[in-house]
Amino acid sequence: MNQRIVLLGPPASGKGTQADRLADCFLIPHVSTGALLRSECSRGTPLGQEADGWTSKGLLVPDELAVRIVTAWMKENGPRFIFDGFPRTVGQAEYLDSSLAELRAGLDLIVLLELPDELIRRRILERISCLKCGATFSMSLHGNQEGSPCPRCGALLVRRNDDTEEALDQRLEVYRDLTLPVVGYYEKKSPNLLHRIDAGEGSDEIFAKLSALVADKKDKG
Ligand SMILES: [Zn+2]
Repeated sequence: MNQRIVLLGPPASGKGTQADRLADCFLIPHVSTGALLRSECSRGTPLGQEADGWTSKGLLVPDELAVRIVTAWMKENGPRFIFDGFPRTVGQAEYLDSSLAELRAGLDLIVLLELPDELIRRRILERISCLKCGATFSMSLHGNQEGSPCPRCGALLVRRNDDTEEALDQRLEVYRDLTLPVVGYYEKKSPNLLHRIDAGEGSDEIFAKLSALVADKKDKG
């Protein structure tokens, strides 16, 4: 079984949801670097304090620090993980490689969930989510409107503040400029670990394909 997994993909490709499902199914921790960062900061650890120096100014933490935070987590929990949306830059990918080498481990599987811009746009701009339970729905697909009650818990459905055209353009630009080169990096460095899945398919179809990749029949020892 593959136990060191990187899921990459643009916004709205469903990588977070798929990472959660894989984690449940294969009992591999789903590691969100955003959550790790917030946890270090709230616990006031030395890494958290260092990160705070950047985030409190509205800046992203440097690649090297982001990887140090992930490495600290791996040292504590073992090098088994599903990263979702990490590494986010080529710099992070390089630091991650050296850090894994120090732990005498390497990535097993890298999957890119691909979605054309037009579909990303449609999914995000039609997305409404519940203020209370966080469930998300598509306005056209589920027939829910902004301000209508959540089918799961009855709370108010709203559009997220960052789900505007402008914010979306920015997120897509960041993805193209920073994260797509990460795919290029792995394409060169580990072409046989990199797989692509069409994220325009249904969630269950995508999950079936991902599961088959994670379960990998070949024994890697
Ligand atoms: Zn709800």
